[in-house]
Amino acid sequence: MNTFLSSSQEALKEQYEKYAAEEIQPAAKDLEQGKTSLKEFLQKLGQTGFLGLTIAKEYGGASGSFLEQSLFVEAASEYEAGLGLSLSAHFQVVELLKRYGDDRQKSRYLPLLARGEAVGAFCLNEEKAGSDYSLIESEASTKKESPKLNGKKLWVVNGNIATVLVVAAKDEETGKLALWLVDANDSKTVKVTAGPKKLGLRSASTDQIEFIDAKLAEGSKLEGDGKEQIEFALDVAKTILAMASIGMSQGAMKLAVEHAKTRQQFGKNIGAFQGIQWKLADMSADVSAARMLALRAAWAFDESKEEFRKFAAMAKLLSSKAARLHTGEAIQVMGASGIVEDCPTERFYRDAKMMEICQGTSELQKVVIAEELKV
Ligand SMILES: Cc1cc2nc3c(=O)[nH]c(=O)nc-3n(C[C@H](O)[C@H](O)[C@H](O)COP(=O)(O)OP(=O)(O)OC[C@H]3O[C@@H](n4cnc5c(N)ncnc54)[C@H](O)[C@@H]3O)c2cc1C
Repeated sequence: MNTFLSSSQEALKEQYEKYAAEEIQPAAKDLEQGKTSLKEFLQKLGQTGFLGLTIAKEYGGASGSFLEQSLFVEAASEYEAGLGLSLSAHFQVVELLKRYGDDRQKSRYLPLLARGEAVGAFCLNEEKAGSDYSLIESEASTKKESPKLNGKKLWVVNGNIATVLVVAAKDEETGKLALWLVDANDSKTVKVTAGPKKLGLRSASTDQIEFIDAKLAEGSKLEGDGKEQIEFALDVAKTILAMASIGMSQGAMKLAVEHAKTRQQFGKNIGAFQGIQWKLADMSADVSAARMLALRAAWAFDESKEEFRKFAAMAKLLSSKAARLHTGEAIQVMGASGIVEDCPTERFYRDAKMMEICQGTSELQKVVIAEELKV
């Protein structure tokens, strides 16, 4: 499935796949069960250069493209999609800083984020503000001499390990939403509570963060239109999560194909039955189609930006749907052996459903696509 990648992108893809098979595959189950520390794992990825793929060399990154970064997430998620979710939050912060940060903000945070010495988290959702983030109540009291942030955020990926938080809150002065950079180093004013145990994507925790008069340092606001910045951050996450959904679908498909080639019933490999072949054919076609869309979105990010929003939404919509459907079909092909904890398909099946909710539900992707069609 190598489509229209350049030869250097193909080479990187192979390098990422090799790394994922050797380093991520053996750790996948322990990451999901919390036996391997995600924070330490991310630090290792940072030291190897995978957290700064799109960060400029002057800030310690690889100056690579968003498409290349997406290929890394795809390779990683073939074994552990929860890691893909964690990376999506980290990369949201990276891309926001690259696009909207000033020189001071970039030089302060990007080198730390590139090396994995700091992990990023994007804090948008609140109890009342789910899909409709205009209902955000968190507020930055910018009129005061020493600005402070107050509010409570839910479902924050990397919440318990991140030190660079990008927080959506109303600016008291303008009444408009804005994004603020907050250092999560004072546990009295930035209070993190572990999120609930959830269906899937368990290696990435989704935590509650309360800001209680949290100090906003000078220059902590990302300058620009807050709504545009939030939409940009969501589009970044959608593309990365689309690649994560595709990665896990491919992981499930490989296991199902292998099983179909080796499991004998009624005197034949089950792969000889048309009923099994059609499942695998549908899987391959749907996942390939979703992958084309996700790569198209990543390409739009790098090359044109114009249609990025539409392709990001379409890629997230179709890749998460394909993942939900086909991780289930992979289990069907594998029979009972696919539902046991030791088989990755069991985890992929739980992970896949989550992808239809996080960073914008499937219904909201359709809202965005319709908006882009200007109906
Ligand atoms: C794994 C995971 C990771 C997450 N990571 C983060 C994170 O890092 N940072 C963060 O801030 N948040 C995060 N979230 C929160 C996530 O973005 C929200 O769950 C999501 O936006 C939906 O909000 P909600 O759950 O409140 O559902 P609601 O908005 O209450 O929606 C409930 C249902 O109503 C539907 N609905 C709502 N509006 C419309 C409409 N206009 N048209 C049709 N249907 C509609 C939705 O599609 C959904 O089916 C995460 C969530 C999950 C599950």
